[in-house]
Amino acid sequence: MWYFSQAMDTLQTELQAIHSSWIIPVEPQGKVYQDHTIVLEGDRIAALMPTAKWRAPARPVTETVLSEHVLIPGLVNAHTHSPMSLFRGMADDRPLTEWLEKHIWPAESSCVNREFVRHGTQLAVMEMLLGGTTCFNDMYFFPDETAAVAIEAGIRAMIGMIVINFPSKWASNVNEYLRKGQAVHDRYCAHPLIRFSFAPHAPYTVDDTCLKRIATLADELDIPVHIHLHETMSEIEAAVAATGVRPLRRLEGLGLVSPRLIAVHMTSIETGEIELLARTGCQVVHCPESNLKLGSGFCPVSELLENQVNVACGTDSAASNNDLDMLSEMRTAALVAKGITQNPCVLPAASALRMATYNGARALGMESDIGSLEVGKLADIVALNLGDPRAHPIYDPSSQVVYSTHRDQVREVWVGGRHVVQNGQIATLDPEQIRRNADNWRDRITAKLNA
Ligand SMILES: [Zn+2]
Repeated sequence: MWYFSQAMDTLQTELQAIHSSWIIPVEPQGKVYQDHTIVLEGDRIAALMPTAKWRAPARPVTETVLSEHVLIPGLVNAHTHSPMSLFRGMADDRPLTEWLEKHIWPAESSCVNREFVRHGTQLAVMEMLLGGTTCFNDMYFFPDETAAVAIEAGIRAMIGMIVINFPSKWASNVNEYLRKGQAVHDRYCAHPLIRFSFAPHAPYTVDDTCLKRIATLADELDIPVHIHLHETMSEIEAAVAATGVRPLRRLEGLGLVSPRLIAVHMTSIETGEIELLARTGCQVVHCPESNLKLGSGFCPVSELLENQVNVACGTDSAASNNDLDMLSEMRTAALVAKGITQNPCVLPAASALRMATYNGARALGMESDIGSLEVGKLADIVALNLGDPRAHPIYDPSSQVVYSTHRDQVREVWVGGRHVVQNGQIATLDPEQIRRNADNWRDRITAKLNA
């Protein structure tokens, strides 16, 4: 297949050629190219062709030969709270309400500050890049720090302008959350790696007046609304007892259910609600490992996909997962879908990979730029090493990627053409310093909670 850019010999932006044994472009779905070359021109994909047809142009080009590797689009982690990586392993094996109210929220109120967010995001972003994630959709306090770290690390991020009806060190009331969030938006919205959403935490922590304001502001700024929704049955029962309606219906009444809505979790969905999600083009993010660990329930992914609802995949935070490993998350998603339907045919490998890439991009409104390896798209590319005997034999590279590839096999990562992971090492951050900071925070958090 030949997609050579006509402009390639005339433009003077940096040129890179990556020769790989296999390329899974994700779009078109189910396609696998063997012995192909992908050409990057600046931050975008300029050409995709059989390596046999590659001829180096007269201008300088950086060539990377990756035999026994498969290239996939960068993984899109559609739901994170990256600074919470500093809470990894702090309070495991507890129900969601107890986990939040007795452990996470007290730790947040006593420890979270600008430095915490900076160090936690560095830890998370390093883990994500080394695991093949090139874009994440975040919700947390001090979002300006998250944006700054993402830029420094060279990872793409959708930064949530968080709003919650209780005070934090970031903001003391709804007006301040909205005002400070929009100031961060104005400061960073022109950066090529950064996009924004409004991120009201959940229907049970944000009131109707505020949600209505967010619906209007999101329309004005033309950006998504990222919210936890229907995470557990007890959340829904409490909502029905308090308001008379299920949370999704309440959001519908407030004008929030639209293609802009990124509804995270959705473990309990009634038949009429699937129809509502499909009709309105709402986005759903499935976080199977966090749902499993907190015993929250199961999102009916295969039913949603059958009804043409876009379903993306996310890890949630490392406090409830306990990692930010999207290769593992998509494997879990595929296995859970088969387990709960007792049908091994649902969510096949190519669909699971699509969920973790293209569907994630679509959920964030970024599918024209990322989510697949196509000419003209941004060059967010991951190379997985299949050379080890443990990855052999290889009948179907898509099946291999979803069912038997681990993040240690991530060898090279490009984000917008920038080579940020090289031979399995991160080029943009200092792992030793990040580890020291994480251990230092463990000591500080433990001392505060035991004081
Ligand atoms: Zn979450």
